[in-house]
Amino acid sequence: MRVFNFSAGPSMMPEEVLKEVQKNFCDYKGSGMSVTEFSHRSDLYYDIHYKTLSLLRELMDLPEEYAILLMTGGASTQFDDIPLNLMNNHKKADYIVTGYFSNKAYEAAQRFGDIKLTYHAKEDNYTKIPKFTKKDFRKDIDYVHITGNNTVFGLNYKDYPEVDAPLCLDVSSNILGQKIDFTKFDLIYAGAQKNISPAGVTIVAVKKSLINNPTPYCPLMQEYRTHAAKDSIYNTPPVFPIYMASVNLEHLKKNGGVKYYDELNKAKSGMIYDLIDNSKFYTNNVEKPYRSIMNVRFNSPSAELDAKFIKEAADFGLVNLKGHKATGGMRASMYNGMPIEGAKKLAEFMKKFELENK
Ligand SMILES: *Cc1c(COP(=O)(O)O)cnc(C)c1O
Repeated sequence: MRVFNFSAGPSMMPEEVLKEVQKNFCDYKGSGMSVTEFSHRSDLYYDIHYKTLSLLRELMDLPEEYAILLMTGGASTQFDDIPLNLMNNHKKADYIVTGYFSNKAYEAAQRFGDIKLTYHAKEDNYTKIPKFTKKDFRKDIDYVHITGNNTVFGLNYKDYPEVDAPLCLDVSSNILGQKIDFTKFDLIYAGAQKNISPAGVTIVAVKKSLINNPTPYCPLMQEYRTHAAKDSIYNTPPVFPIYMASVNLEHLKKNGGVKYYDELNKAKSGMIYDLIDNSKFYTNNVEKPYRSIMNVRFNSPSAELDAKFIKEAADFGLVNLKGHKATGGMRASMYNGMPIEGAKKLAEFMKKFELENK
């Protein structure tokens, strides 16, 4: 029996997508071979690869001035790749830290140049993110880096910063799950394992004008232009995650694309936030306009009750609700693959648990 899996990542995929992949696993389209077996330089694979690229361009609504790359190493490798490729002029960049992963990106960048911390959300106890304008950043910097949705603390931007330098966005936990005008950014990246496919492929969309001047010490395989020049088939790409992405992206498109998922994710998270706000038992301290629609964090009155909640929820078919070690409490991650029924069942369980334990 399948359960509702609230894991922060890897996360639930639509059952329809899993079944389609299963059906084709041993014999892909009558070829007598699995996707895991045939050459990445065959027409069979090219169909999958170029379909993934074109669906990403369409669903992300990206004009031709962006190259879309399918890379490996997860979002975390981009913490290095961004400075290696973009810190080529002033050797300076500004970072906004709003949570766990943005802090990792900030730390990784420090070995490559002069990195300034513009803001750290712990100043506001991770309850909101101020609006930043051009004057908040240094002049003569190579780029600014931000993380859109804070996966661990469940905190998100209301207004993105206004900057003069190229603006880089980590969109790992809300790519295609939340409406975002990507043309406001110069580089966008995401590990695929939260909203798109299994771990193994990383999506990078970068303005073509930015990729031809990597730092001299950037390894060939980390250079964006290496992959852009070969449509991301410079070497063997992660064929199976890319195949699963193609099946899932088609599924997302058929359901109505980002507009549909933005509304669905707001409905799922809204149901849980409403319950929290109307309860004296559950708490969430993030100010309303800054709440994540992907990751809903909450606490019960005590750590003992949190542990009891997590255990009893699992017996009820709601698994992986334990919060990150950095925050404690509970976290319900509800990415695109989580159906509305999962949020309804969680709300039902939360009410029941409150009545039994208050
Ligand atoms: C999950 C996550 C990461 C880490 O991704 P990996 O692919 O495991 O490196 C980075 N940034 C954000 C915002 C995330 O949610």
